[in-house]
Amino acid sequence: MASEFDLIARYFTRSAPAGLLGVGDDCALFPVPPGEQVATSTDLLLEGRHFFPDVDPKALGHKALAVNLSDLAAMGARPIGCVLGLALPRLDEPWLAAFADGFHALAAVHGCPLIGGDTTRSAHDLAISVTVFGAVPAGAALRRDGARADDDIWVSGELGAADVAYRLLDGQYPADAARLAATRGALEWPEPQVALGLALRGTAHAAIDISDGLLQDLGHILAASRVGAVLREDRMPVAAALAGMPADPVRRAVLGGGDVYQLCFTAPAARRDAVLAAAQAVGARVTRVGRIVAQPGLAVLDADGQALAQLPAGFDHFPAA
Ligand code: ADP
Ligand code: MG
Repeated sequence: MASEFDLIARYFTRSAPAGLLGVGDDCALFPVPPGEQVATSTDLLLEGRHFFPDVDPKALGHKALAVNLSDLAAMGARPIGCVLGLALPRLDEPWLAAFADGFHALAAVHGCPLIGGDTTRSAHDLAISVTVFGAVPAGAALRRDGARADDDIWVSGELGAADVAYRLLDGQYPADAARLAATRGALEWPEPQVALGLALRGTAHAAIDISDGLLQDLGHILAASRVGAVLREDRMPVAAALAGMPADPVRRAVLGGGDVYQLCFTAPAARRDAVLAAAQAVGARVTRVGRIVAQPGLAVLDADGQALAQLPAGFDHFPAA
């Protein structure tokens, strides 16, 4: 029977890059370059709430880190390292091996080594907590409070696929194997836009990653920046995998769907070429979907220029009513 320490040694210990102290001591150590700030963020993932109990463990390892790297991306921060808290209801080594594979593979892609954590037994469900650390030149982070009237509003990638995959897996939509096959990757294997976030430093005024739905997450930028927005529904980069679906679920997925892990950001209209150049340099797709206005509030115009009377709600763990 493997002990806690065997598990840590087997699945979570990798040699740390030079200059870092990784797994094995009471704390990890990493240097912070002079003139830079540490950016840090934590996400907690719970079985049954953030992932289905039977999800592919390799995908889960990937996603547990991806959602955190997405927060660094949204700030324009460069990853340094991460720590992993695991509460395990049972000792399932093939599961752990696959989870660790998915986690370490994404960590390697982004130069974000696992440098510490904690492992305990859980009386009930599986819980996964990841904390990332990044670095950003002091004062250069992309924050939520920097949007200004007349900025363009941009989103990266495509919207809507993760929401449709989730609702199919959750049984809210009738089974559709082809649609699930086309959308599932977006839900289970999100690609955090770290390179784009870095490339947008000095150009974007404000940024956020889309975790709870475009309207809700853009709403956080609007509140922090004390401005409003007008979005154009006909400009939205609707995921190709949604082709042929009825208008209502598409609208709900594109405007309200969560788990996207793309960036929503604002930039001055005079910097359109700089935004496109930044995106092209990192191979990202970006789409201009609206404009920031001085008057607080959020309007979405349809193809005829009419404001939608009802907007889909984003995800909220503690809805008011
Ligand atoms: P402590 O008793 O000081 O909390 P632990 O025995 O919990 O130390 O952990 C031993 C070492 O293993 C520490 O360096 C810790 O950061 C690391 N560690 C524990 N669990 C994990 C994990 N899930 N992933 C990465 N490192 C881990
Ligand atoms: Mg411990």
